[in-house]
Amino acid sequence: MKIILLGAPGSGKGTLAKKISRDFDIPQISTGDLFRAIVKEDSPLAHKVKYIMSSGGLVPDEMTVELVKDRLSKSDCKKGFILDGFPRTVAQAEALETISKIDTVILVELANEIIIERLSSRRTCPNCSEIYSTEDNPEEVCKKCNTPLIQRDDDKPETIKHRLEVYETNTSPLINFYSDRLFKVSSAGSPDETYRPVKTFLEKLEAKN
Ligand SMILES: [Zn+2]
Repeated sequence: MKIILLGAPGSGKGTLAKKISRDFDIPQISTGDLFRAIVKEDSPLAHKVKYIMSSGGLVPDEMTVELVKDRLSKSDCKKGFILDGFPRTVAQAEALETISKIDTVILVELANEIIIERLSSRRTCPNCSEIYSTEDNPEEVCKKCNTPLIQRDDDKPETIKHRLEVYETNTSPLINFYSDRLFKVSSAGSPDETYRPVKTFLEKLEAKN
């Protein structure tokens, strides 16, 4: 099964991807991971990507597509895959269509107010990177190493609002592009409640194919 996951930062998309990957035995592929992996390699593509990233530029679509194409040709993708963070643009989506036929696009939906509430209650330990919520850890001191917790800039409401705007601008054209195979799910409940309808849907889809 070839799946794309769409969802705003803080929507619980990553948690959902892990559950699908585990139960359906398909790899979760994120372009972030691909970029982090390629810079450790010694290939012409790796050198190009490294050069662009070190000069602070944006990796062009063709290069990202090339990277994804290479990853999807690996043997663990034979049964399918979950793409997370790709495609980001309609141009990338069009290129992907020529590489692989996507079966379904899962759109994880959560109201912006809830995302802002969830993310802005997040605290990080600057020493060991452990993540807490102010609800579970009102003392705001790391339970592992006793360091006072901090709020990362990424988790401040102004930054979150900006990230959500960017997400919406990028994603609405993709929602139109994939309107014929879109499955929408709300992540307002617990991670298991979010996963349940997705699992049922994917099991039916798998049986059909
Ligand atoms: Zn700590």
